[in-house]
Amino acid sequence: MGAHTYAMDYTEAKHRIEQLKAILWENSRKYYVENAPTMSDYEYDQLMHELEDWERRYPQYATPDSPTRRVGSDLEEKSEAGFAKFPHKYPMLSLANTYSIQEVEEFAERASKGLDRPFSYCCELKFDGTAICLTYKNGKLFRALTRGDGVQGDDVTRNALRIASIPHTLKGSGWPEEFEIRGEVLMPYESFDRLNQEREAMEEPLFANPRNAASGSLKLQDPEEVGRRGLFCTLYHIPTGQVDFPTHDEALKAASQWGLPVSAERKICHNIAEIESFIRHWDGARKQLPYATDGIVIKINEMDCQQELGYTAKSPRWAVAYKFKAEQACTPILSIDYQVGRTGAVTPVANLEPVLLSGTMVKRATLVNEDQIRALDIHEGDWVYVEKGGEIIPKITGVEESRREPGARIPAFPHVCPDCGTPLVREEGEAKWFCPNSKGCPTQIKGRLEHFVSRKAMNILCGEATIDQLYNLDLVTLPSHLYALKAEQLVMLEGWKERAAARFLESVKASLEVPFERVLFAIGIRFVGETTARDVARHFGSIDAIASATQEELLEVPEVGEVIARSIFHYFLDVENCREVEALRAAGLHMSVEESDRRLSDALEGKTIVISGNFSISRDEMKALIEAHGGKNSSSVSGKTSYLLAGSKPGPEKLRKAEDLGVPVIDEEAFRALINQPSDAPTLF
Ligand code: NAD
Repeated sequence: MGAHTYAMDYTEAKHRIEQLKAILWENSRKYYVENAPTMSDYEYDQLMHELEDWERRYPQYATPDSPTRRVGSDLEEKSEAGFAKFPHKYPMLSLANTYSIQEVEEFAERASKGLDRPFSYCCELKFDGTAICLTYKNGKLFRALTRGDGVQGDDVTRNALRIASIPHTLKGSGWPEEFEIRGEVLMPYESFDRLNQEREAMEEPLFANPRNAASGSLKLQDPEEVGRRGLFCTLYHIPTGQVDFPTHDEALKAASQWGLPVSAERKICHNIAEIESFIRHWDGARKQLPYATDGIVIKINEMDCQQELGYTAKSPRWAVAYKFKAEQACTPILSIDYQVGRTGAVTPVANLEPVLLSGTMVKRATLVNEDQIRALDIHEGDWVYVEKGGEIIPKITGVEESRREPGARIPAFPHVCPDCGTPLVREEGEAKWFCPNSKGCPTQIKGRLEHFVSRKAMNILCGEATIDQLYNLDLVTLPSHLYALKAEQLVMLEGWKERAAARFLESVKASLEVPFERVLFAIGIRFVGETTARDVARHFGSIDAIASATQEELLEVPEVGEVIARSIFHYFLDVENCREVEALRAAGLHMSVEESDRRLSDALEGKTIVISGNFSISRDEMKALIEAHGGKNSSSVSGKTSYLLAGSKPGPEKLRKAEDLGVPVIDEEAFRALINQPSDAPTLF
């Protein structure tokens, strides 16, 4: 019996460690590479601490690639992103973090035990942006690297040069001939709100928070756009051994005299009471700052002490981050909507009395599902606590019972679909109620169409209002119907002018060139997100191979588990789904990886083209068009550039550079003549 339990413990530990590693890896990728986290930092940190704990107890299952031993990597999986990679002179590490003052005390005790002399702490704000490493050579900015995987980073120098607070040349004297300095690139709330408003107007996906926006902006291929994003930089660390100052604080003071942006919001503390009061002060005062901070960093100030304490594989032993819990706001619920998604899942969403939270106004918050409403014991009109997690829609995390009106009722979760009236079902193991009428429920049909046309799917120029209109007129109820629309039909509709109809139809045509993996994502199989679609498409190569695969064969795709395999398998058992796939194939969509690689011509073979400005099609489509005709895209003009393709409002610097280097500048018309495809050509492009 004892031996049995013993074995059980080991099996459980191994299983949980594997599970936690998988969850943390996946979320780390979403956070660092996609800049679109779906979990709050607090949840992520709790899981990381749980993994640390398991690995401490069962070291035989702790592998060197564990997220507890490696910093999260922001390096793109595909190097197409086009940044050169360079090694860091000193590894760029993370920080040990905690949400408890007691653990800060333990850190201080450990440090005193390890050091046999008096020392002080430098307490600083923990800026919530994206890390950057700047190298200055002979007083000039030489290179800017992202943290990458800690060992090597992406070269974003051209973008860093567009961030106003990063000096191109140092002031004063005394700087080493060559040195690295590290800090954070941030996007102030004001720029963040403006950017998201612009993206909303362009129907582009919004950034969840300023950190993701800063990190996404730093990785853009267009330095001019980076310059417009309103980023700024603050620096906080010169790796040891490059400058000769006795303390960290003095090194920062010198950096500031050289014209480098160093935050003045730091304090030298001598004991835990002083550290605590600095933390308390900033927990409140940070709400007045125009940018996001997520904690306080406590560093041992004396350089020789730092050297003595050294590093673990992942973080310095001479520093710890005290993280603030997500900011909360308390506000009353005005009403609850029950929203039906494209998969039929019904999500309760509370409409709130608007309230300011982490710099933005919050009007709605998700209540997740019925169990969550019951677990939080929500009553109508309750005052609730709201928090921002990883997602854009904030979450309700608690209720202020003392403010509940007497006789307040518990909200009744609907029994039927709020949209089509079909009785809702909740299958075993599912946390959500579903409307099973997937083929007839208007919201689900429109949701699927919206997903199909979205930017990451088929990228058809078509907003929610257009889908509504086309659906209500019974012109489009399935994605394949989009490909049968004619200009004559559209111009008869309210609000459509000839130009709008032409632009729309052109984007429908352009979507025929969307590669197969995105087509697979676009058709909207449940649980098949962008990454899964790519993996499955590459594994099987064609829709026919996927449609005829067994669940076991589907499970052979790395990262595909039972749920996804079952969902794909069942999708192709449905006759109507198969009929729709055939209709899309007949419309000309790519249904295999090979077709996606199809070239339209070799007209641009051996040519490198830089595009600048706006065109009759989107910039991404223009790039795809260049590639489809055998050309190569490049983001900067150099001696190797064959043409600068200038649309309306091209970047003045690119034009100047092209002129200096004698690179021919052509407009869209000339370009289309080159590829023999006038913009009004009846066939694609
Ligand atoms: P971190 O953000 O917790 O702390 C280290 C970083 O803090 C440094 O790399 C540096 O960039 C920054 N920093 C800001 N101010 C600083 C200062 N004054 N001095 C020194 N450094 C300062 O660690 P991390 O490794 O960048 O990221 C891990 C954290 O990211 C996790 O703890 C988690 O909160 C979050 N995360 C969240 C998800 C998610 O899904 N929500 C996924 C992955 C990571």
